[in-house]
Amino acid sequence: MQYAESVVELIGNTPLVRLNAVTAHLGPDAPLVLAKVEYVNPGGSVKDRIALRMVEAAEASGALQPGGTIIEPTSGNTGIGLAIVAQTRGYKCIFVCPDKVGHEKINVLKAYGAEVHVCPTAVDPADPRSYYSVSDRLARETPGGWKADQYANPNNPRSHYETTGPEIWTQTDGKITHFVTGAGTGGTISGVGRYLKEASEGRVQVIGADPEGSVYSGGTGRPYLVEGVGEDFWPEAYDKSIADEIVAVSDGDSFAMTRRLAREEGLLVGGSCGMAVVAALRVAERLTKDDVLVVLLPDGGRGYLNKIFNDEWMADYGFLDAGGGETVGELLD
Ligand code: PMP
Repeated sequence: MQYAESVVELIGNTPLVRLNAVTAHLGPDAPLVLAKVEYVNPGGSVKDRIALRMVEAAEASGALQPGGTIIEPTSGNTGIGLAIVAQTRGYKCIFVCPDKVGHEKINVLKAYGAEVHVCPTAVDPADPRSYYSVSDRLARETPGGWKADQYANPNNPRSHYETTGPEIWTQTDGKITHFVTGAGTGGTISGVGRYLKEASEGRVQVIGADPEGSVYSGGTGRPYLVEGVGEDFWPEAYDKSIADEIVAVSDGDSFAMTRRLAREEGLLVGGSCGMAVVAALRVAERLTKDDVLVVLLPDGGRGYLNKIFNDEWMADYGFLDAGGGETVGELLD
């Protein structure tokens, strides 16, 4: 019989799939462009990996005791990962989300039995109403509370150094030359990037994809709509020495590519995936067929059906005019 002892065992070991349609314009000398598809994790995102590693480390250190409560500011995906690990180990969960996060994502957290607090996005991180401040207060006030703190927890980048990075290296037979990923906490780029740099003795180029306006690409932290990536401060989980280059991508380009990935590649993924692929294709334009580029796609698209995949929402922000593609009506013709 073949089965996992629990759903937690199904985290990681995600596949690489070649991107075909969206790379067609690169012509015959195009590099191999491979997507690391993280939505096949049980919680539907790359964040299952860090949730497991952070909880294991907190159990080992005694910071998280039996029957304790996991508290975290999360845009949803880390919450889902933490909730899955919590359910299988008897912990409670309280999550704090910014108000730009989709209702579907929040409802998923609630479905796993978590308590969810929603906070304003457009306030300073130091403001007592910010989602960082509210989660700090809840962590202090909740008996048996433990804050996972993905922004500063070294087990966030470590989980990628120990799992995502080695998987990519093995899956490409060590032939990867470029790695492209978005940065939110910076855990993925820092952990995977460091592993790939070490394994390749510095040969692999690491490229960060960033929403225009975020600090990683030199912005002020001004608001943008793509979720889960970019920051208005420099998190401890982000290792500034890893990225060779940061590519800034607009919301409009990110969402247009997200829609193309669903329609042309059969990959129903989130907005940060579209953003990462736009950056990957900009890099791929200057590469040759000897290169192997891996772009990480952090989550699936189901949580964005009322936004990126909704024509009215896209039109309200002027994104359909900006190259968002045909309307659903046109697609049905
Ligand atoms: N995309 C999405 C949808 C995310 O939720 C996250 C995590 N915040 C990221 C990308 C970025 O990953 P990381 O935090 O490892 O930088």
